[in-house]
Amino acid sequence: LSLFDIVALRREFPILNQSVNGKTLAFLDSAASSQKPRRVIDCLEEYYRRYNANVHRGIYRLSEEATFAFERARGKVARFINARSQREIVFVRNTTEAINLVARSWGDANLRAGDRILLSIMEHHSNLVPWQMLAQRTGAQLEFLPIDGEGRLALDHLDAQLAGVRLVAITQQSNVLGTINPVAEIARRAHACGALVLVDGAQSVPHMPVDVQALDIDFLAFSGHKMCAPTGIGVLWGRRAILEQMPPFLGGGSMIRVVGLHESTYADVPARFEAGTPAIAEAIALGEAVDFLQEIGMDRISAHERELLGYALERLSEVEGLRVYGPTTTEMRGGAVSFTLDGVHPHDVAAVLDSEGIAVRAGHHCAQPLHAHYDIPATTRASFYLYNIPEEVDRLVAALHKARTLFG
Ligand code: PMP
Repeated sequence: LSLFDIVALRREFPILNQSVNGKTLAFLDSAASSQKPRRVIDCLEEYYRRYNANVHRGIYRLSEEATFAFERARGKVARFINARSQREIVFVRNTTEAINLVARSWGDANLRAGDRILLSIMEHHSNLVPWQMLAQRTGAQLEFLPIDGEGRLALDHLDAQLAGVRLVAITQQSNVLGTINPVAEIARRAHACGALVLVDGAQSVPHMPVDVQALDIDFLAFSGHKMCAPTGIGVLWGRRAILEQMPPFLGGGSMIRVVGLHESTYADVPARFEAGTPAIAEAIALGEAVDFLQEIGMDRISAHERELLGYALERLSEVEGLRVYGPTTTEMRGGAVSFTLDGVHPHDVAAVLDSEGIAVRAGHHCAQPLHAHYDIPATTRASFYLYNIPEEVDRLVAALHKARTLFG
């Protein structure tokens, strides 16, 4: 993105134009949740002002309009990830719910004692805990891909580790290390062993082009709120043939065909997995966010972030006592940069940055096993998105020098 583009783009995000603690806000926490452009906020408001009505039920104008917009959003999301059909898009609340849906529905129906699920040690808790719960219910076992010194998956023993594995569930981009994992290669080798592949796309779908057919995976989970859309809406994409074999997750209205007092039959996918009134406005606004991202271009967004990342890695290396976790080059790496600063607690680092108007996150970032691997309780994380600028990296580095002086 050129300087001209980025100045115009930043104006689209009303929240960025404010002071925090007397300084212009530098928002470096998009890995947790992104900011929203004006058109997404307007889209939500327009729904409630002009055509708010429940979907799929009413035989009246407003309900038809809401249903049309809701289903059109499903189509936009399908095209965004190159799904074969919009019937493969299940609207859920977030990545966490998408993964729980697969664990409950596919997992309970298909796994037996002794079956194996292959994860990695860099997984977010939402791609770990549902599998632990499934393992406890079924007697299945969890296996873990290790990482190397650069924070990349170590795949040397992948084929051996795949023995007896029914499902590989892996993140495409680590929310702590920034590592981008070779999902297509893992999927190819997993399929050769008869395993299905679920990809946690929470940190990849917002930041790079993701094509489910090119990756040749089976499930993809992601959240709207990390890609310029509202909270409360997320997506499970699944191969249609697999989704059609899966039993319902939640029971209730909208997911049925015929209901008797003792038994019911279920709707086709995706309705089978969308019990109850969905997040209508949020889904429509997700469609708007997808349009927004596609008009800019996912290639350009990822190139912009890589440029910022390269600059940040270079500038951060100037800060004495600072250690970055994860790859130290921009190769196969996204813009989440977690670090520790010698002698300063990660939360104190974040507090000093906040006093300078810089928003970052400190803690375990829902990846406790990964932090245990490094034998640290917490890191501070700065993360970039399409609206960030090099000047914010400069401010981050200056504030880190200040933190060292204050605590050093
Ligand atoms: N996986 C990864 C890699 C994430 O970064 C996150 C969000 N921090 C999640 C899953 C969970 O997303 P959500 O809280 O929206 O369900």
